Order: sequence, then structure tokens, then C-alpha cells
Amino acid sequence: MTPLSELAQGQQYPAPALYVVATPIGNVADITLRALHVLGLADRIAAEDTRNTGQLLARYGISKPLVAVHQHNERAAAQRIVEYLQAGERVAYVSDAGTPGISDPGAKLVEAAREAGFPVVPLPGASALATALSAAGDWAETFSFLGFLPPKAKQRATMLQPLAGHPYAMVFYEAPHRILETVSALAEAFGGTRRMLIARELTKLHEALHVSTLADGPAWLAADPNRQRGEFVLVVEGMTAQATGEADHDTLLGLLLEELSVSSAARVAASITGTSRNALYTRALALKKD
Ligand code: SAM
Repeated sequence: MTPLSELAQGQQYPAPALYVVATPIGNVADITLRALHVLGLADRIAAEDTRNTGQLLARYGISKPLVAVHQHNERAAAQRIVEYLQAGERVAYVSDAGTPGISDPGAKLVEAAREAGFPVVPLPGASALATALSAAGDWAETFSFLGFLPPKAKQRATMLQPLAGHPYAMVFYEAPHRILETVSALAEAFGGTRRMLIARELTKLHEALHVSTLADGPAWLAADPNRQRGEFVLVVEGMTAQATGEADHDTLLGLLLEELSVSSAARVAASITGTSRNALYTRALALKKD
């Protein structure tokens, strides 16, 4: 069998070219053999934060000239990178963590390199998006990636409103200081019954994955302040037929509960909808508590 190092070296690594290299999202061991090979091969490494990347490279025993390419200078810095490419260099680009271009700089650099006629070679690896989705479940098989929501409540609500009828699961990134507010806003915009995965600190010491309904999310986060620390991916169920059905059940149960006990409401709702009486009882109990 061919040794892995040979497989990593066996691919074509043209020069000049821009290499877009994914790096770990927490555990530094989550780097690929090919990423290490290309970072070692590159003449120069462009990085979102050169200090951060310098430290990461040191862990892998790699030392290269670094160039800063971040959100605020990406267009201008891309021109410098194009000059390095014109000089025949292999330039690797890495963002702070994960895959460049996914809620991270990199896209403008990719366009500038391609427009100037240079190959762009992606090196796959960690991304918080794919990591969270891989542990979500079949309700998130088709999804849309939305990234960060606007920080201001009004703009966030405006963005969420048209998404309430979106048929696919939606994936959001969020920072710790806004996580509670954002999950509450999602519950308000989409209703409480949909499933949600809160994926926190993926691949790190305090990794936590919590699946609940949107309504239960804020209470879970509030129950322990540690649960609001770190980095977050939120996966929210889309407006599926089941979710639509659940919303309809809630409306029906809500009306019945105005006149009947929990068990009677569940029994009547079960005979109207043909849905399991037990499931409706549990839901009616939760609605009554709310
Ligand atoms: N390009 C990166 C990727 O491929 O995932 C994302 C960069 S974006 C600036 C940073 C956001 O990604 C964080 O605020 C968080 O929402 C998410 N994220 C990154 N690392 C994470 C981790 N280890 N666990 C959970 N979310 C993470």
C-alpha cells in the first residue's frame, strides 16, 4: 500500500498557484496531511491574523514568510498576493480557523487570483459548518448556510421574517455574547416547536451538542452560564411538512385547552388529526405550562 506521505505528495501542486488551506477549528490535531504538505511547500503563507497563524504553524514545525490578508485589507492585499503569484510563487491562504471563505476572508483573494489567470487549489479540512451538520441528523439533510445574523434586533428580525417559510434546515454561526438573544429571536420568528441543534465548542475540551425544540433552547442556555461560553453553530429545522403539522397541532391544542383539560384536549385533537394521543398529550402539557 502506498504510504500516506507519498499520497500527500503525489498530487499536482502547480507553481504559481493560490492554495486555499483549511485549518483546525479547535483541536490542532485536526489538520490534514495534505494541508501540512502544502504549507511546507508554499513560498509564502497569507493569513487572516499572522500572529495567530505563526503560532499554529510553529506547532507543526513550519516557518514561512507571512502576509496579512484580513477583512479590512482583503482587496488591496489581494493585489500584493497576485504580484507574488506573478513572480512564480506558491501562496497558501489560511484564515484564523476552519475553511477560508466561509464567514471568513478569502473569497476576494480567490477571485483576484483567478482573474489574474492563476490556478486556485482548495485543500479541504475542518469547518464548523460541516462539523455541526454531520452531527445534526436527517432533519438537516438539506440545508442553507446563513452565517452570522445581524447583531441589531430589528435588522435580525427583518432578516428572519422571510425565512420562516424556508423549507430547508438553516445553519447560523453565533458568538457567545449574543447566543441567548439569537436563540430567543429564532424561537420568536419560527415558532417554538421546530428542532434545533446547539453545537458549542466543537472539537474543544468543552464541546457540547444539544438537540431540543426552539422553545426549549433559551432555557437550556440560561440554566448554566457555562453553556453560553465559547463558539456556536446553530442548526434549525426548516418549515417541513412535519413542522407545519406540529404548528397546526399547537394551534388546535391551544384552542382546545381553553375549554378542556390536558388529557381531554389531547384525546379530541388525536381523533381530529389522527396523530398519536401520547405525543399530543406531551405537547398539550408543555403548552399548558407555557
Ligand atoms: N471559516 C470558519 C469555518 O470554516 O467554520 C468560520 C469562521 S467564523 C469567523 C467563526 C465562527 O464559526 C464562530 O463565531 C462560530 O460561530 C463558528 N465556529 C468556529 N469554530 C467553532 C467551534 N469550534 N465550535 C463551534 N462553532 C465554531
